[in-house]
Amino acid sequence: ARRIYLAAYPQGMPTTEHLKLEDIPLPVPAEGQVLLRVIYLSLDPYMRGRMSPTRSYAAHLHPGDTMVGGTVCEVMESRLEGYAPGDFVLAGAGWQTHALSDGTGLRKLDPAHGPLSAALGVLGMPGFTAYVGLLEHGKPKPGETIVVSAASGAVGQAVGQIGRLLGCRVIGVAGAEDKCRYVTETLGFDAAVNYREDGFPEALAAACPDGVDIYFENVGGPVFEAVLPLMNDFGRIPVCGRIAHYNDSAPPPGPDRLPAAMGLVLTRRLTFRGFLQFDHIERMGDFLREMGGWLAEGKVIYREEIVDGLENTVDAFQGLLTGRNRGKLVIRVGAD
Ligand code: NDP
Repeated sequence: ARRIYLAAYPQGMPTTEHLKLEDIPLPVPAEGQVLLRVIYLSLDPYMRGRMSPTRSYAAHLHPGDTMVGGTVCEVMESRLEGYAPGDFVLAGAGWQTHALSDGTGLRKLDPAHGPLSAALGVLGMPGFTAYVGLLEHGKPKPGETIVVSAASGAVGQAVGQIGRLLGCRVIGVAGAEDKCRYVTETLGFDAAVNYREDGFPEALAAACPDGVDIYFENVGGPVFEAVLPLMNDFGRIPVCGRIAHYNDSAPPPGPDRLPAAMGLVLTRRLTFRGFLQFDHIERMGDFLREMGGWLAEGKVIYREEIVDGLENTVDAFQGLLTGRNRGKLVIRVGAD
């Protein structure tokens, strides 16, 4: 078996200095445990936070710990009632080829219900994040304008399509021309703007002639600064992520723009709402039913990027933090 563990806390971009691959003995299940073989490993931006010792909403890892992560696995050996070899499960096995589980947090998956990898993306944590963030905190009404950043990614592509299904006008912000084309031409967003192009704030304003009612915040940085002045009175800003800052090791250069931002919060009566998807777990049943229906009807589609081999995980994770991924990023650890 093999695993990737945190060897040292990175400053800035994590590399193979901080995340090391090693061979380990195949684990042996005790009574009450199953041995899992990892098929798919989900790579998600939150993992960067686990590599940092600063306080966050979840405990950070310590040097030597196996990197955490959501996985789709096959049961190889079972000494746990209710599980048999050949069962497919959603599990938190982390960055490794094999793992033991006592059943805590496992959910059985039926391959007849569609591709197994979707349980890590559109039908999994990122899709659920889009669903609860937009519905519970964005509170969209038909005819409103939604801007979503990291628009072509795992969360963003679901946010925009759900917004369209609810009758909103949706504008995506993404970091590459092909990503902008994907969200407009394939996903049906009303417009998309590339934040890496000169004149981005003006282009975004032109794409939002009626202002912005909901900004689904995934990135922070210059994108946030360009959207904020476009917010309408009583606008809502679900704060889902701030990926532009995850590798920061020093505060950004001045001037201090916080007073001006707070001025807009007051005069436009904006609602910022930070949220974490796991606080809404009671909506999981609704989500699986509704998103499952949209997928079956072809009303929601999705793109994922599957990278082969655990040994390519660190490189792929760097790509997630720099915008190289095209859709939900998944590692194929073992044969499916
Ligand atoms: P994506 O699939 O969207 O991949 C990350 C994308 O972020 C990249 O492709 C890139 O797209 C964009 N990005 C990277 N660096 C920057 C930067 N410096 N400035 C602007 N954009 C950047 O990831 P997810 O959909 O999985 O996650 C999206 C966001 O949602 C993240 O912030 C994540 O932390 C957050 N999240 C929050 C959850 C919650 O419970 N609150 C749960 C799940 C995710 P581009 O090329 O367009 O820049």
